[in-house]
Amino acid sequence: MSTHALRSTPIPGLVDAYTGIPFNLGFHIRHYMLDVDYSVGPNRLGASAEIRCVNYRPLSTLTLDLADSMSVRSVKAHASGACAIRVAKFKHSNHKLRVSFAEEIPEDTEFYLSIRYQGNPSPISSPWGAIGWEELSNGSLVASQPCGARTWFPCDDTPDEKATYDIRITTDAQYTAVATGVLKSYQRKGRRGVWHFHSASPMASYLAAIHVGEYKHVVLDGASVPIHAYLPPSCEAGFRTEFADQAAMLNLYERLFGPYPFPTYTVVITEDELEIPLEAQGLSTFGANHACGDKKYERLIAHELSHQWFGNSLGLAQWDDIWLNEGFACYSEWLWFEHSAGIPAETSAFEHYQGLVAKPKDLLLANPGPVDMFDDRVYKRGALTVHALRCLLGDAAFFRMLQRYVASGRHSVVEPVDVKREVRRVCVEENIDCEEFEALWACWVQQRELPPFPRRSDR
Ligand SMILES: [Zn+2]
Repeated sequence: MSTHALRSTPIPGLVDAYTGIPFNLGFHIRHYMLDVDYSVGPNRLGASAEIRCVNYRPLSTLTLDLADSMSVRSVKAHASGACAIRVAKFKHSNHKLRVSFAEEIPEDTEFYLSIRYQGNPSPISSPWGAIGWEELSNGSLVASQPCGARTWFPCDDTPDEKATYDIRITTDAQYTAVATGVLKSYQRKGRRGVWHFHSASPMASYLAAIHVGEYKHVVLDGASVPIHAYLPPSCEAGFRTEFADQAAMLNLYERLFGPYPFPTYTVVITEDELEIPLEAQGLSTFGANHACGDKKYERLIAHELSHQWFGNSLGLAQWDDIWLNEGFACYSEWLWFEHSAGIPAETSAFEHYQGLVAKPKDLLLANPGPVDMFDDRVYKRGALTVHALRCLLGDAAFFRMLQRYVASGRHSVVEPVDVKREVRRVCVEENIDCEEFEALWACWVQQRELPPFPRRSDR
């Protein structure tokens, strides 16, 4: 799908207020072909990236994000048409790769950058902890949210710039490599294995991931798409108990939100323990501690799956709107327990409302700021906002609104205005006073005080 909208065009000179990364302006990346050779023991990565770009203004230079732990060996360019493009020089510093061209590239040219690089990948420290490529005790993982993709490939590391991907990984044959996308091929070449994954749906850079480990492959049945799991063999029994409802969750979310957005869903359980699980596109990562089989993590298993709709298919135009990911994912947890355990979402909502009452009321959902971006209040107040909408609209109109929102933003980026548009539409259809909705939105999203707990209307 190539018609996804990219609506947020940042103003030149501006830096992403959340990640602090200066924007890479003047072009869009349409496709990444990443050829990654990784050796686990020395944690050594050698790679080439072929990046297909289109420029929306004449370019004599451009920048990409690439961590300083990588060293760039060469940068070449060529155009797909008659236009000849030559790289005059490149410079790599401060996590930026700056490429200067010998002649200015005319506007609307499709061209390719071929970049060869290598290094010992390591995570970047950030206000949200270490992010990006991380060495494990026996393998590696990628957990990039919000801006760690640059630790392992040159990219435009902003959530609104989605592209399609091919990721090829060569590693020691005793290891299994798993990446975002659909596995297209595996070849054994002597002591090395070569894995090729393809993502046909556009993906934000922070959602691209590679995992390497001594994993067993398990397939779970019962859903409309294959559910793959890659896990340490010692975790299998615990995994099968802990993730027993994974297919049922996917089925529920399809019924409530619309079709699962990707061809497969993959769960990776790392041999190491992880503090928190994390979503990638079509894939979620959990630690061995999340697959012990004591059913403690059902909530998180539901949460990560729901990100395939909220966050991955429906991406963010800017990090300010993080509650569109986390609020809807948190509400999805409550919907799962409503379905599976008969616990009304209202009960979950009330419990967490009480939690918010006890916390500082200085967070603005519409723009929580980088420090509070992953604060629990964003998740819970975001979910309560969704619950307030359900109370206002009634179940039938609420789920109709939700399905339209999901369908209209599929494989694209969304902003709060997209939710508002769909809510207003059902308000008109149901004869609900739009003013009531505007007041709800203002007090939950645009003000800091905690509004009264939302109660169901008689609709
Ligand atoms: Zn989440």
